[in-house]
Amino acid sequence: MIDTHCHLHFSEYDQDRETVFQRSWNSGIKTLILVGCDAEDSGQAMKLAQNFDGAFFSAGFHPHEAARWDLDKKQKLEELSLHPKCVAIGEVGLDYYRNLSPKEDQQKVFIEMLNLAKSRQLPLIIHCRQAGDEMVSLLKEQGPFPSSGVMHCFSGDSKYLKDCLKLGFYISFAGNLTFPNAQELRDRAAEVPMERLLAETDCPYLTPVPFRGKRNEPGFLSHTVRKLAEIRNLPFEEMSDGISQNARRLFKLGHHAGN
Ligand SMILES: [Zn+2]
Ligand SMILES: [Zn+2]
Repeated sequence: MIDTHCHLHFSEYDQDRETVFQRSWNSGIKTLILVGCDAEDSGQAMKLAQNFDGAFFSAGFHPHEAARWDLDKKQKLEELSLHPKCVAIGEVGLDYYRNLSPKEDQQKVFIEMLNLAKSRQLPLIIHCRQAGDEMVSLLKEQGPFPSSGVMHCFSGDSKYLKDCLKLGFYISFAGNLTFPNAQELRDRAAEVPMERLLAETDCPYLTPVPFRGKRNEPGFLSHTVRKLAEIRNLPFEEMSDGISQNARRLFKLGHHAGN
């Protein structure tokens, strides 16, 4: 299986990173994408990806960080995006829920990153919280995106989901899909065509039931995939094969070094 979105380069794993990798490998996660949140963090993801077979990374600038954007950081990300193990631009997007950076900054940086994805022909890893309308109009304005992308840790209503699908994006679900109060999210997961469905841990966050409350790790992905299988009334194997194929297609994993 493939964890399409994890942050194993974060300091949460400084004490036991090797062990976590080993456990993930043993539990069947043979490929993972280390997702960058700013220029420096994407550099850390790159370094870690170089050390592990089956590990790839993405270069991005999180909307939370948008107020700290400058030309140096832009250049660093442009460089990182040329690395043979860089499989996507992200995470990038809009977060109007926490609003840690002004909206105008978030939009400006997001557009820069959309342009980088287009010029490098890389897929996007998009973070969006409570900004669905702006997200859709920005993507329409700036698109099309021939290399597509994923709406990571999806949240939103049915209409937003349809708009994202119409724009050609994949939809990824994280561990919060397993939470008892997440019925609305499970309803959305039932509406995504099989060939556009993905799963992720977003670890260290969003630990699925039954480990909720603990630090998350790629090895816990199977709990989210099992929930997806249950929602769609499919055998676990069929679900895990299907979403792995989708991940390989979107991130062109067969074409990158080290796979
Ligand atoms: Zn995110
Ligand atoms: Zn993330």
